[in-house]
Amino acid sequence: MLGSTGSVGRSTLDVVSRCDNISIFALSAFRNSELLLSQCLQHEPKYAVLGDLEQHKRFKRLLAVSSCKTEFLDTEDALEFIAVHEQVDMVMAAIVGAAGLSSGLAAVSAGKCLLLANKESLIMSGKLFIDAAKRNNADIIPIDSEHNAIFQCLAETRSRLPSSDGRFVDKLVLTASGGPFLNTPKKALAKVTPEQACAHPKWSMGRKISVDSASLMNKGLELIEASFLFDLPGDAIDIVVHPQSIVHSMVYYRDGSVLAQLANPDMRVPIAYGLAFPGRMASGAKVLDLTRQPALEFSEPDVDRFPCISLGRAALEAGGTAPAVLNAANEIAVAAFLSHRIGFQRIPAIIEAVLSKTSCEPAASLDIIRGADSAARIEAKKLI
Ligand code: NAD
Ligand code: MG
Repeated sequence: MLGSTGSVGRSTLDVVSRCDNISIFALSAFRNSELLLSQCLQHEPKYAVLGDLEQHKRFKRLLAVSSCKTEFLDTEDALEFIAVHEQVDMVMAAIVGAAGLSSGLAAVSAGKCLLLANKESLIMSGKLFIDAAKRNNADIIPIDSEHNAIFQCLAETRSRLPSSDGRFVDKLVLTASGGPFLNTPKKALAKVTPEQACAHPKWSMGRKISVDSASLMNKGLELIEASFLFDLPGDAIDIVVHPQSIVHSMVYYRDGSVLAQLANPDMRVPIAYGLAFPGRMASGAKVLDLTRQPALEFSEPDVDRFPCISLGRAALEAGGTAPAVLNAANEIAVAAFLSHRIGFQRIPAIIEAVLSKTSCEPAASLDIIRGADSAARIEAKKLI
């Protein structure tokens, strides 16, 4: 479990605790020593990893005085070590942001089944990531709810018609809740606070993805994620606003059929699907009762108020290192917004400026991608 103390990490451990045949080999967190220790006491992993060096001493002390038998791995390559370990079959990638790239890539390069929540790693490295998985026969099961929905809708076709999905699919439709500012006038967006942005009406998530959902950059990122995962161009992927967050995405087939996956908005549903694939297991989510459900609505997104969708599309079309640049600029801008250094509407403005100042190259190697990521971060910080 990479990122066990986060929102996806905690939901994953909740699902795991409902089933007898999954054991946790290792847990990793960034700086929340107390929560990591209590997770170790409950799940008894062989190893625990903590990213923030300043917390190492403290965690060692906590571990020493507890009854926990978990070993603390404090080496620099600890995340990669656990991600490729021979005793591991499945890796949950639930670190947030670019920090999850090395460990996720290591896992697929070692042929592990990757449950991918950390969309940023795939957006940054795209084809390189997918090719590493293909070369090493690693399955990638998307955990992002929209992509998990599409994966479920394609599974039927895939099992009967290996490698010919593409010919039957007309388009994918990603649904978007619209976030907390769905009906906020453009003028008022300038004044919204991080607290308002993080108060998502349907999903309870980490702060970075909550801001992405409020700016709709999450959909811009998910468009790129879907293009890489399902090998379809951007013009075959639509985005539709669906405030009830019941239909998690759809696949339009050539014959006019549309397959959708429905569930209450609860990340334990896609997580349980990933853990049990190709079977099914209980997730703990509330059963969907459509007779008590308010009407399901669908509408087009307002790209004037939410320009991040168009920025995502532009980066996907530009290709190469552009998605890595978009992602890096977004991470810096979101962090600045969360610490009250810039206003909400500066987020798309900064990303657009960084994209326009950067020439993209083919994303031919990890070094090139990392270089583009660093340069974009520097540029975004300058603008802030
Ligand atoms: P979060 O902020 O709640 O948790 C992030 C986790 O990553 C924590 O365990 C944290 O300790 C760890 N982490 C942070 N920085 C790190 C670093 N530098 N090195 C190592 N570990 C680090 O985030 P989240 O909401 O759980 O999201 C995790 C990922 O899943 C993100 O990529 C997000 O886009 C994706 N995702 C989340 C949801 C959701 O409902 N929360 C839904 C879909 C996709
Ligand atoms: Mg999503």
